[in-house]
Amino acid sequence: MSPSKVTFLGTGTSQGIPMIACNCSVCTSTDERDKRLRVSIQVEIGGKSFIIDTGPDFRQQVLRAGVKRVDAILYTHEHKDHTAGMDDVRGFNYHQQSTIPLYARAQVIEQLKREFAYAFGENKYPGVPEIDVYEIDGQPFTVQGIDIQPIFVKHYYLDVLGFRFGDFAYVTDANFIAPEEQDKLRNLDVLVINALRKTTHISHFTLAEALDLIAELKPKQAYITHISHQMGLHAEVQKELPSNVSLAYDGLVLTL
Ligand SMILES: [Zn+2]
Ligand SMILES: [Zn+2]
Ligand SMILES: [Zn+2]
Repeated sequence: MSPSKVTFLGTGTSQGIPMIACNCSVCTSTDERDKRLRVSIQVEIGGKSFIIDTGPDFRQQVLRAGVKRVDAILYTHEHKDHTAGMDDVRGFNYHQQSTIPLYARAQVIEQLKREFAYAFGENKYPGVPEIDVYEIDGQPFTVQGIDIQPIFVKHYYLDVLGFRFGDFAYVTDANFIAPEEQDKLRNLDVLVINALRKTTHISHFTLAEALDLIAELKPKQAYITHISHQMGLHAEVQKELPSNVSLAYDGLVLTL
């Protein structure tokens, strides 16, 4: 099954755009598409609402997008810009009167336990996040009847998971994808892939590297995310892209 709707909750790199104290043309742009919170998406599929990553902007993002329900949260990796907002699942605990299931690799779960120790203890203080944690790795898994294919990608030396739901896939924080993992990203309607900027970076694809990968994988449509202010102005970079590639922006909704 493929998603019916995907909402980009955030499309910015770890610092977000504008960056604190930066006066560059992107950080001071009045184009709303140049304002990027930390990366996250909502995937609506089979009547379920999944969130991928809960960065530091999670609360603001779900309020802004009008997210009323979360059935599960999937984590790509343990970096703070993808995990820092987990505490705010409390709002959904309260609204739904239920725990929220989290799906992550073992090392991500270990980090969540360190950083949110109060949510995992024996005698929990009332009002802490109510979560159920499920370990995943490279094997396909099913969440509430929805089949999900993880894709292992490399983020410098760190292993990160991308996720494929039917003909839609989301890959953030990567600068290398092994051939056998690339094979899991073929025949897609939509591929979301990260590209930080135009110049080389130790742990993220450049725009050119992402475009090469898109040309190899041939999704019908591709969207770029995890964007730095160094990428340039949205409107100008967009003009340079092939017709089937777009820069994502915060608030972009794909109806599939
Ligand atoms: Zn990141
Ligand atoms: Zn800037
Ligand atoms: Zn990262």
